Amino acid sequence: MTSEKKILVVDDEKINIMALAQFLKPRYDIIVATDGAAALETAEKHIPDLILLDIIMPDMSGFDVLLKLKDTAATMNIPVIFITGLSDAEDEEKGLSLGAVDYIKKPFNQTIVKARIQTHLKMADYVKTIEKLCMLDALTGLPNRRGFDSRIEAEWGRSHREKKKLGLIMLDIDNFKIYNDTYGHPQGDILLQTIAEILNKTLHRASDIAVRWGGEEFCVLLPDTDIEGTYKIAEQIRKNIMDTPITCLSNKEISVTVSLGACSIIPGDNDKIADYISEVDKLLYIAKKNGKNQTCIP
Ligand code: GH3
Ligand code: MG
Ligand code: MG
Repeated sequence: MTSEKKILVVDDEKINIMALAQFLKPRYDIIVATDGAAALETAEKHIPDLILLDIIMPDMSGFDVLLKLKDTAATMNIPVIFITGLSDAEDEEKGLSLGAVDYIKKPFNQTIVKARIQTHLKMADYVKTIEKLCMLDALTGLPNRRGFDSRIEAEWGRSHREKKKLGLIMLDIDNFKIYNDTYGHPQGDILLQTIAEILNKTLHRASDIAVRWGGEEFCVLLPDTDIEGTYKIAEQIRKNIMDTPITCLSNKEISVTVSLGACSIIPGDNDKIADYISEVDKLLYIAKKNGKNQTCIP
């Protein structure tokens, strides 16, 4: 029915792992680690849906493992449940204040462990759904500004680490206000949806990202793309939009144009995302000033 959730079980005692795995296995995909370092490595590699974490382990305690998980972007949102022999209220308080979602004392009752796991998996699903919706633009279905922020941050970091070029295009519909005034706001909304479709059709690489930046402005993020490639895509977008007839009132077909700014850089140590965006925004402004329906590059 539903896809199998992955649970990472961390305990230095194999017998404890087996006890948990035995009754969880029919329902979940179980992966295991027997020390803190292995737990962190496995969590980053497999991104489990939930982690069951022992506290007392040699080398690294469960508390330290949790701190490290919370400190790593990829693992910080994975719900962690402590399953421990420690029964002091102080330990429980510490575990929960560090960010564990639950604290179960050994010896545990299997039915209760199952029920709590189910609850936390469901909560994590809700959070994921809400996060996804918050990052989407309802009109076009493209990521919104918030979605763009999280994507550019990830791609910026990757491009910086791998010394690869990151292309960015910003585009704005020409004379959209007149379009809205002439054909009405609902027709303006249809145009925005049409542009989103054209962007999706024009971008071919899975890593390319189109977003609705705001009102009638869109951004396109092109990982691993130099300025020649970025300019080429920008011009393809411009031509595809110009060549797509838009059906307006009384079946009249018209064509709209966009202006674009395009850039590509390898992010350096001192470069900032905000400066990069504002550079591309300035290029877009120049494209408008130079007569619209064109792409401006540095
Ligand atoms: P320019 O060529 O210089 O870009 O001029 P413009 O008319 O396109 O730009 P301006 O910034 O003057 O107007 C933008 C318009 O975009 C005004 C606003 O009503 C419209 N707009 C913004 N968001 C939406 C939306 O969600 N739906 C519709 N239909 N219109 C929108
Ligand atoms: Mg405009
Ligand atoms: Mg505008």
